[in-house]
Amino acid sequence: MTILTSTVDPTSPKPDVGPSNPTPVAVRGASRPDYKRHSLFWFDDRTMVYAAGDVLFRVSVGRLRYHSEVFYQIMGIPAAPGSKEGTEEVPLVLVNVAPKEFESFLRWVYNVDASPLTSSLAASTTFDEETLLHILKLSHNWECQDGVDFAFHQLDTRFSLAESHKLQLGCRYKFREWVGPAVRALMDTPFSSLSFDQSDQIGFHTYVFLTKAKDTVLKERSLMAAFPPVRNQDVHKGCIEARCDRIWSETWWSSIGMRIFHPTSPLPLIGIPAILHRTPYPGIIPECREASLAALVNHPLFLTEINIIEEVVGSILAHYAL
Ligand SMILES: [Zn+2]
Repeated sequence: MTILTSTVDPTSPKPDVGPSNPTPVAVRGASRPDYKRHSLFWFDDRTMVYAAGDVLFRVSVGRLRYHSEVFYQIMGIPAAPGSKEGTEEVPLVLVNVAPKEFESFLRWVYNVDASPLTSSLAASTTFDEETLLHILKLSHNWECQDGVDFAFHQLDTRFSLAESHKLQLGCRYKFREWVGPAVRALMDTPFSSLSFDQSDQIGFHTYVFLTKAKDTVLKERSLMAAFPPVRNQDVHKGCIEARCDRIWSETWWSSIGMRIFHPTSPLPLIGIPAILHRTPYPGIIPECREASLAALVNHPLFLTEINIIEEVVGSILAHYAL
């Protein structure tokens, strides 16, 4: 039996503290239990040379396999005997990957920015926006869900990306949590205020979806402003129908129609009932007013705008199979 202990010069005097027979650190050749590989700490410590653009990187195969499903599959295939693949002479070429992009991905894989670990872990959140976008792209392409989640979380919590950019990233990298809110925000944004780059981020198909929906919303809002919903037609005591009709229509325009067309803070259609209930309608018979307002509570007309917006969210999600 061989006992491995820390290297001690047998001629040196023994320290007069501690046990005279130190506990073995490891034992070789004992009866062999049924060993199994640890699920996490069982590294493939080969290194391979990869080329991204004109830059060579020599990194651990195991690290990449651990994080990326694509690398797990590809690097699991044994190389041909005598193959020089993965050496400096014959590097594995990463197609369509810029050196800076691969460097960003490796910064995350190796977590070099947080090494050694600090008490605050502040270093782990120093990735800039560009680095995170690289991590997102390569993690997505290489089926590294941890990297996708990390990059999205960092971008979401530490940066204020334009809605058009969030929409682009959400559609491209299948992160539907960003798509709905971005579409709703863009439906509320005049397209004349977007830069060319932002319009480009939205992309042609989505731009068409949004402009059509905006047209439909505008048409519905114009109809709503111009034509008040039919009021309750019950005849109440003292009611002169033509007069109540006239007051109903005129007040609608002055209290609702003008707000719908307000140049800086247009009233959303869903906000109409709240305004109606604090509008006096001077001269109308109170019973006529109450009956007409009661008939409009929860009226589907006021949901028109929201329904159009949710429909376009659904269309865009479906278009990108999200
Ligand atoms: Zn009346």
